[in-house]
Amino acid sequence: MKKQTEVVVVGSGPGGASVARQLARAGKKVILLERGRDHRRAPYYGTPLGALIYSDRFSFLFTKEGLNIIRPLMVGGATSMYCGSAARPPAWLKEKYHIDLGQYVEETIAEIGIAPLPPEQRGVASTRIAEAALDLGYNWEPLLKFMRPKRLDCGAKCMYGCRCGAKWNAGEWVDDAVAAGCELITQARVDELIIERDQIGGVRGTLRGQAFEIESKIVVLAAGGIGTPMILQHAGFFEAGHGMTMDTTAMVYGAGKDKGIGDEPPMTWAYADDEIGYMLSTLIDPRLLYPIITALKGPQYPFTWHRWGRTLGVMIKIKDDISGGITFEGEISKPMSARDQFRLNHAAIVARKILIRAGADPETIFLTPLRGTHPSGTVRVCEMLDANLQTHTKNLFVCDASVFPEALDRPTVLTILGFGKRLAEHLLKNVLG
Ligand SMILES: Cc1cc2nc3c(=O)[nH]c(=O)nc-3n(C[C@H](O)[C@H](O)[C@H](O)COP(=O)(O)OP(=O)(O)OC[C@H]3O[C@@H](n4cnc5c(N)ncnc54)[C@H](O)[C@@H]3O)c2cc1C
Repeated sequence: MKKQTEVVVVGSGPGGASVARQLARAGKKVILLERGRDHRRAPYYGTPLGALIYSDRFSFLFTKEGLNIIRPLMVGGATSMYCGSAARPPAWLKEKYHIDLGQYVEETIAEIGIAPLPPEQRGVASTRIAEAALDLGYNWEPLLKFMRPKRLDCGAKCMYGCRCGAKWNAGEWVDDAVAAGCELITQARVDELIIERDQIGGVRGTLRGQAFEIESKIVVLAAGGIGTPMILQHAGFFEAGHGMTMDTTAMVYGAGKDKGIGDEPPMTWAYADDEIGYMLSTLIDPRLLYPIITALKGPQYPFTWHRWGRTLGVMIKIKDDISGGITFEGEISKPMSARDQFRLNHAAIVARKILIRAGADPETIFLTPLRGTHPSGTVRVCEMLDANLQTHTKNLFVCDASVFPEALDRPTVLTILGFGKRLAEHLLKNVLG
């Protein structure tokens, strides 16, 4: 297959969807390439089987150090399986890097209707955890959610993918882009960039096993924190993927006598310690995932499965230092620094105190193995990209979680959508004309 277009966008997660939608709505000729399929209307979407089908390596993707990474590869990217939590970009993005996403983020909040869930939908046990934390002096607050409360009749248990449409998903903005004239091509994996005299000329890859080539004067890479640096490395960008951030995550679980948080919407309450560098929120793994995750800690832990219904959980996300990286073959390494270990332990001690106060038996409390939910910071803005997200190759841009200059240690999607809107505006005003 050979085609020509004005703009190629690679990847249909929040980064790619936001750019493609805005450019298509402005009348530009856009092709959106996505290596996965569109599973949203399949009968298995939102089930454990589905999560195996559309996650990279059937959800068994691990870093060299053993961190499990869930990496959905389908239309909508990782928002197909996310918790629907939102957070405004950190203040340091503007103060330290002079990147002000304020106007784009506020516009997105209003457009999607991002807000905390009403009190009666935040979950009884989740609210008990937040109240215990408040009693201890930790200022927990209801978290912003990409959720439509009116559609939340299923209880939002859908960590494998939202079946009822209560959770906003980047696939919705892909649909908007297509309605505005964008051509979406699924099962199209970009492997190579066409670069002539330091200027982008298009992309090459494989479409359902056959080679394809698309000529384009502008290319936006939005293949995510793992996909984008691999494409760049193949094109000779040696620094891409050197060092990464992950918001390295673990859960602290403890069981009490009352009902736990397993059947409640995920992450309804949260707390950030920006001084030490971590975020806490209410969450536990879905019932079927629990024994698999806990087995990674040790053979005795899956035997705690019978108390899943009474389990309270606090998720820790640390602001991890830039470390490790990705090789051209996709091998990922993410070692913890001494400072990361300190952040994790600090957060775990606080979480333990809160769980005990909320009614968990201290004998049941344990920390799960580490996992990586936000592969990011692999093509960092103001280091490998200029402030407009352009690489040193003219008209080759990046717009996804790879561009974070440091770990965000908070939900990423709202910040990525802000970057997407800002890049689309820049392209329309200054590049496409
Ligand atoms: C279980 C889980 C829960 C999460 N919960 C939250 C949450 O509550 N709130 C929040 O803000 N964030 C959450 N996140 C993180 C968030 O979903 C991701 O950080 C975000 O989706 C990243 O967006 P992106 O555009 O960088 O990439 P992605 O969403 O990863 O999209 C990249 C897309 O590019 C495609 N692609 C990759 N390589 C190629 C290629 N070579 N050619 C063509 N296409 C390619 C992929 O298939 C994918 O669809 C969660 C993540 C996970 C896994």
